[in-house]
Amino acid sequence: MQSSKQATFYIKTKRSFTPVRTYAWILTVLIGIGGQFVPFLGLLVPFIMVALMGTSLFKGKYWCGNFCPHGSFFDNLIGPVSRHTKIPAFLRSKPVIAAVLVFFMFNLGRRFIDVYATLGTGEFLERLGLVFATTYLMVLLIGGLLGLVINERTWCHFCPMGTIQILFYKLGKAIGLAKNTDEKVTVNHPELCHSCGKCARVCPMQLSPYLQFSESSQRFDDEKCIRCNTCAHNCPAGILQMAKPQEAEEIKERVSLEGFDQAHYYRARIKEITSLKDDVRQFSFKLLEPARMPYNPGQFVLVEVQPEIKMYRAYTISGSNQDNSEIRVTIKKLAGGYGTNFIFDNFREGDTLNLKGPLGNELRVDPSSSELLFIANGIGITPFVAIAQSFFERGEYSFNGKATLLYGARYEEDLVNDDYFEKVAEESNDFTYYKILSRPRTGQYAKGYVTDILKDLHPSPETRVYICGTADMANGVTEILTARGIPAENIYYENFI
Ligand SMILES: Cc1cc2nc3c(=O)[nH]c(=O)nc-3n(C[C@H](O)[C@H](O)[C@H](O)COP(=O)(O)OP(=O)(O)OC[C@H]3O[C@@H](n4cnc5c(N)ncnc54)[C@H](O)[C@@H]3O)c2cc1C
Ligand code: SF4
Ligand code: SF4
Repeated sequence: MQSSKQATFYIKTKRSFTPVRTYAWILTVLIGIGGQFVPFLGLLVPFIMVALMGTSLFKGKYWCGNFCPHGSFFDNLIGPVSRHTKIPAFLRSKPVIAAVLVFFMFNLGRRFIDVYATLGTGEFLERLGLVFATTYLMVLLIGGLLGLVINERTWCHFCPMGTIQILFYKLGKAIGLAKNTDEKVTVNHPELCHSCGKCARVCPMQLSPYLQFSESSQRFDDEKCIRCNTCAHNCPAGILQMAKPQEAEEIKERVSLEGFDQAHYYRARIKEITSLKDDVRQFSFKLLEPARMPYNPGQFVLVEVQPEIKMYRAYTISGSNQDNSEIRVTIKKLAGGYGTNFIFDNFREGDTLNLKGPLGNELRVDPSSSELLFIANGIGITPFVAIAQSFFERGEYSFNGKATLLYGARYEEDLVNDDYFEKVAEESNDFTYYKILSRPRTGQYAKGYVTDILKDLHPSPETRVYICGTADMANGVTEILTARGIPAENIYYENFI
């Protein structure tokens, strides 16, 4: 059964990765609200301002994403209840940013002049503190309100302190201070990007790093980036990190493009859509230009979901015809999933679209192995369909060893391609198939997880293991395999759940 959870573009996700980011909001509440009763608390603000300006000379808006007490308030308290909609373009526009800065400076200047009149009296520091505390409270209220009705970091687009940081950052770059210290979102290689847009969907500033990586530039140069690292934490390809300029080049050299270097864009037509389960469909693509896609089983393609926003999704090739002029992918619809809901609702037989592939190295099986162990759960079974097809059904590889597949699912109806694997196991003496259900509805199947089957098997240390499924499953399996003496370099894992 599908949940009716609606697919939204912007994803709420954890954004606080350090204790400072988790708890700095307490300072905001203390100064903004506490400062109304104890005005001296407001005197902390000038120190915060000096710190943020100093940081920005070297690292741009790093302060906003990592130390700012208001930012922490927006992320931790407003984010979870925010409507999370698109920030209107005018709130990001230069005139609004300039107008807010001018208004802020004018207002603060006016209030300073009033306070200056009390210089030399006992009142001076108290009144000065109140000016800052009240300003802090205003940001808390206005920023918080905008955060609730639009997006938690809406304020950060025109925050005067943020604008001042960008100006200081420009100065830092001009005089060379930021040259070696400027950490930016960096991609290992632009070629490894799935164009899935997840970095844009989780970005609290609603920026789109992946659209601005070019073949030559690995770095995301947008000055509005608050260096919060959320995109890197969420990238399914694991190819983003914060890096200094000299580190970017090193990363590029260190990371191999093997498995990704033969990829091309293809024009393709949807030849057939077959429903395998209520929420699982197989899509067959007829390749139009180029006409064939040579691939290794275990590799994946990028399927264009929405061309107007450059949105692709990665799907493992789950089979092809003999000359590779048609390829198949098997897609599970996710409750609340943006891409799969779009695909299930809009893709029709006869439609044409772009694909990019073949891609991927992790599940390219080494046929020289004498023992192969495949372990999958959920929709992680898809790569093993193409592998079984090439190795056992078609005999495309001179494989002389034994292979075992362990497949775990939740319910009977979640077992995808079960008949196919049963048939391959029946016809080949070299392929053994085990399946297990965590919540079987009937007594027909074993109850448990793939780890339960694995405990009863005794793979030799030479076995090559290919795992595809959830991270929890992969961790459990790896623990058992390691205890059995299988070295880490013989264990390959692709996570796409
Ligand atoms: C190499 C590789 C191979 C893959 N092969 C396959 C395959 O063969 N078959 C297959 O079905 N999939 C495969 N995938 C996964 C696939 O690429 C997609 O990630 C998957 O189809 C989900 O896409 P989606 O856009 O529907 O979900 P997304 O919208 O990207 O959502 C992903 C997850 O986040 C949650 N989420 C979405 N929106 C929100 C929100 N607003 N707040 C909180 N949580 C939210 C969703 O519930 C979902 O669990 C593969 C992935 C990789 C990396
Ligand atoms: S691009 Fe990444 S680091 Fe920059 S603000 Fe967005 S999520 Fe944070
Ligand atoms: S793989 Fe997805 S999240 Fe990672 S950089 Fe590319 S588009 Fe962004």
